[in-house]
Amino acid sequence: MLDNNPNFLLMVEGLTVSFDGFKAVDDLSFYVEPNECRVIIGPNGAGKTTVLDLICGRTKATSGSVNFKGQELLNKREDQIVLAGVGRKFQTPSVYEDLTVFENLELSYPRGHSVFGALAFRRDAIVKARIAEIAATIFLEALLDEKAAFLSHGQKQWLEIGMLLIQDPELLMLDEPVAGMSVAERKKTAELLNKIIKDRSVIVIEHDMGFVEDIATRVTVLHQGKTLSEGSMERVQNDPKVIEVYLGH
Ligand code: ADP
Ligand code: MG
Repeated sequence: MLDNNPNFLLMVEGLTVSFDGFKAVDDLSFYVEPNECRVIIGPNGAGKTTVLDLICGRTKATSGSVNFKGQELLNKREDQIVLAGVGRKFQTPSVYEDLTVFENLELSYPRGHSVFGALAFRRDAIVKARIAEIAATIFLEALLDEKAAFLSHGQKQWLEIGMLLIQDPELLMLDEPVAGMSVAERKKTAELLNKIIKDRSVIVIEHDMGFVEDIATRVTVLHQGKTLSEGSMERVQNDPKVIEVYLGH
């Protein structure tokens, strides 16, 4: 039995959502280990984005279980799931254009109790140090005072990843993070993901196979809301069922 296996950070079992009788996600099970980068691939409409919506509580499941560190997420609200340690990035970047890189990161810093005097001063120093650390991770350390509006599309995507990282999620979910990025930006994003999985697990939805190869620990191929194939990149690429779906026999 896989139940409560401490080797898994996330256990998705029998996950199903039905939209007016159409099962966008259909009895899906998969398991994510700590420090794993799981890539979900699959044709348009396969249910990839819906899987992330279900895990982060944006969409309510019809049935199944999403167990994260021993807690059932399916009966929690979106904000409770964030607090439990799950961060989610949507397809389009949603940074505050009129604010600087520093201010965007500062706004995302987890708020504790308000503090006064010497303690507040100390907290400011800790927040600043953390922002500097995150900015370096997302390649924006030289642009802390730049308004987000002036960043390239790729830099905005990194900033949004930074806004999630500053909350230190144990599971980070990214929906097509390199769409619209240059080749150089894709390479740097792969480098970024390989760096951040040292402290967490990541689930990424992606189409760019070169990028998938650079980041994936394991790949899940989704088709009509179900797992078509799962394993190493090499294994799924050579799976006749995957070849059939992609080449359309
Ligand atoms: P992918 O991300 O793999 O391209 P999606 O998860 O966005 O696919 O969508 C899977 C299927 O579910 C599609 O057919 C889509 O039209 C349908 N779908 C997604 N969300 C809803 C919704 N809220 N209501 C009805 N149908 C939906
Ligand atoms: Mg999608």
